[in-house]
Amino acid sequence: MRYRFDIVVIGGGVVGSSIARELSRTNAAIAVLEKNSDVVDETSGRNSAVVHGGFAYDRGSLKAKLCVEGNRMMGDLSEDLGFPFIRCGKVLVGNTDEDMRTLENTIRQGYDNGASGLSMIDGKRLHELVPAVIGSFAMFSENSGILDPFLYTIHIAENAHENGVSYFLSHKVVSIERRNGIHIVTAGDDVFEAEWVVNAAGLGAKTISDMLGITGYKVIGSKGNYLVLDKTLGPLLPMPVYPVPSNTYMGIHVTPTVDGNVTVGPDAVNTDDFSYYGVPGDRMEYLRESASTLWPHISRKDVIRTFSGILPKWVDDKGRIQDFRIEIRDDIDDRAVNLIGIESPGLTAAVPIGRMVSEMILERTAFHSKDVWNGHHDKPMRFDDAADKTLVCSCENVTEEEIVRAIHNPLGVHTLSGIKYRTRAMMGRCQAGFCHMKIEKLIERECGLRAEDIRYMGPDSWILSGKMRNGNGK
Ligand SMILES: Cc1cc2nc3c(=O)[nH]c(=O)nc-3n(C[C@H](O)[C@H](O)[C@H](O)COP(=O)(O)OP(=O)(O)OC[C@H]3O[C@@H](n4cnc5c(N)ncnc54)[C@H](O)[C@@H]3O)c2cc1C
Repeated sequence: MRYRFDIVVIGGGVVGSSIARELSRTNAAIAVLEKNSDVVDETSGRNSAVVHGGFAYDRGSLKAKLCVEGNRMMGDLSEDLGFPFIRCGKVLVGNTDEDMRTLENTIRQGYDNGASGLSMIDGKRLHELVPAVIGSFAMFSENSGILDPFLYTIHIAENAHENGVSYFLSHKVVSIERRNGIHIVTAGDDVFEAEWVVNAAGLGAKTISDMLGITGYKVIGSKGNYLVLDKTLGPLLPMPVYPVPSNTYMGIHVTPTVDGNVTVGPDAVNTDDFSYYGVPGDRMEYLRESASTLWPHISRKDVIRTFSGILPKWVDDKGRIQDFRIEIRDDIDDRAVNLIGIESPGLTAAVPIGRMVSEMILERTAFHSKDVWNGHHDKPMRFDDAADKTLVCSCENVTEEEIVRAIHNPLGVHTLSGIKYRTRAMMGRCQAGFCHMKIEKLIERECGLRAEDIRYMGPDSWILSGKMRNGNGK
C-alpha cells in the first residue's frame, strides 16, 4: 500500500517512540516504522535498566545534558505513564587512592553537568546502604534509580499510539528517496511518503543514515552480556553496585530489578554482528567472577537466565567514542533528523531526546498543537487488580485475565515475548517451563491464530511447526 504522513520515524525503540510521542502533541500525521514485531526486541529491552545520574559523561556533552534532564523527570514520567521506577540510589565502590581521586573527579564532573545528590561515603556508610558489598568507600549517587525497561518503552509507544501515532511493526525500511522535497520510504511491501524522516534506528542508524545520503559515520557494536539471578537474591541488593567507572565504560555491575531479581553485567565485547544475542559460557563465568569481587552472592545455582544487548558506539578515525549525534544536515537533507550513536544513557535520556528532536522539527515546520493531548497511560494490570485469579504463571503470579488483557495490547503484538514483557509471565524461576504452552493456547484462542503461526519473538523464532494429531486424536 501507499501511505502519506507528515513525519515518518524509523525505529520504534524507546528513542523513536519518545520522539513520536512528543510530536503527537501536534496535528502532524506521524508513522513509526519498526522492523521487529515489538518495540523492545532490540537495545531498549536489553540493558541494565539504570536511570543514570549524569556524572559519568564528558562535561558539556549531549549525553550529560540529556541524561541529567531525563533523570530529573523520571519520577513524573513514571507517574504519568504507569511504569515501575524506583529512585533507589547507586554506589560506585573503590579501594585505592587512585579510585578515590577518580571518584572525586567524577563527582566534580557530575556537578558541572548539573547532576545533584552526589557524595563520597566511607566504608561504614557504604555497608549500611549495601550490607554485603565488598569495598572500602564509595561514591553515592542518591538520585540514580532503576526502571522496568520493557514497560517504560511499551507505555511510551502505546501513549504515542493513543495520541494518534500509527505504528507499523514488522516493517523494515529498505530504501529512502527524496523527490520534490518529499521522502519516499519503502518498508516491507508498503511505501510511505513524508515531508520529514527521523532516523531513530539504533543499531540500524548508520544504514538509514547512508540511505539518507549522510555518509561517513563509523559505528561499532559493543556487546554486553548479562546473568539474571533468582528473586531470592533481590532483598540482599537495595541498589546498583558499580566499580569505579571511566567516561566510556561503567564496568561490570550488579543491579536489582524493579521486580526483585538481580542482573550481573555487562561486559563489553566489540562486535560487528548486530543481531547475535547469544551469551557464551565463558562470558557467564567471567561475569560471575568479576562481579563477585563487588558482591559475594553470585552462585551458579541462582542464575535463571542470560541475555545481552549491543551498544551502537559512534567512533572517530582513532576509535575514540563520540557523543550522541542529533543533527539536521541542511547541506544534504533539510527535512531529515539523523540520530547516531545513541548508546548509554539513551534509556535515561530518551524523553529529552524526543523533546529535542520535536523542537528541531517544529522550528522548521509549523505543525499546530493539538487542543487535546493525553499524556497519561494506565499502570499494567497485576494480580491484585484481576477479578478472576486463575493463575497461568505461578512463578510470577500472573493470571489469565492479565494475559488476555496483554494479548489485546494496542500495538497488536502477538508474540510470546510480547506477552512476557507486558505481564512478566515466563520471567520466573522456571523460565516458561510450566506456562509457555498455556500462553500459546491463549494467543491461539484470543487472536484466532494457528499454533504454527505464533512466534516467540521475531518471524524466525518458531515454536511449533504443526500438529502431530488432528482433533480426533489421530
Ligand atoms: C548492555 C547495555 C546496557 C545499557 N544500560 C543502560 C542503562 O542502564 N541506562 C541507560 O540509560 N541506558 C542504557 N543503555 C542504553 C539504552 O538501552 C539505549 O541507548 C536505548 O535503548 C536506545 O534506544 P533506541 O530506541 O535508540 O534503540 P533500539 O531500542 O535498538 O530501537 C531502535 C529500533 O530501530 C529498529 N530498526 C533498525 N533498523 C531498522 C530499519 N531498517 N527499519 C525499521 N526499523 C529499524 C530496530 O528494530 C529497533 O527496534 C544500555 C545499552 C546496552 C546495550
